[in-house]
Amino acid sequence: MAANYCHQCGGGLHLGKVAGDGILRLSCERCDFILYENPKNICCGLVVDGEKLMLCKRAIEPRIGRWTLPGGYMECGETSKQAVAREVKEETGADVSVRKLVSIVNASSHNQVFFYYSCELQSDFLDSTPECLEVRLFNRDELEGLDYAFSPIKKVVHYFLSQQDSSNFDIFELDV
Ligand SMILES: [Zn+2]
Repeated sequence: MAANYCHQCGGGLHLGKVAGDGILRLSCERCDFILYENPKNICCGLVVDGEKLMLCKRAIEPRIGRWTLPGGYMECGETSKQAVAREVKEETGADVSVRKLVSIVNASSHNQVFFYYSCELQSDFLDSTPECLEVRLFNRDELEGLDYAFSPIKKVVHYFLSQQDSSNFDIFELDV
């Protein structure tokens, strides 16, 4: 990530090991500022309406035109469940009740952690939004052959559908 100047004093940043953890980090040459970079949390919804699951066709790159689950970056000051509800609303227009954590996907090479929650649809939704070319509810038998934007999404969807009817399932953990 480009960050050439100190957030505190405007001094130059240099890359080196800082005291304590031995990890290479950018730190200021003039003051005590250390730039700690941490993974982003991405919160997504497995939105069900009866037997059907909601998917969104991406309107933005990467993987434009392929199917994904609604979701996005968590904001400061909100919980992961609040982030799911907000992102689903933004991307589909739908109000949902966020239920249970289903899956955690660590995309370490991209510095991202994905959280997938089951949700129940509580309202109508839009056919399309600025972020989605199409928003649709799918029957189970339609989900197998879909062109998913990212392979972990397909795995999470499959796991969820296989466990959806059991009241007490393990969280599906995936490192990609
Ligand atoms: Zn500084």
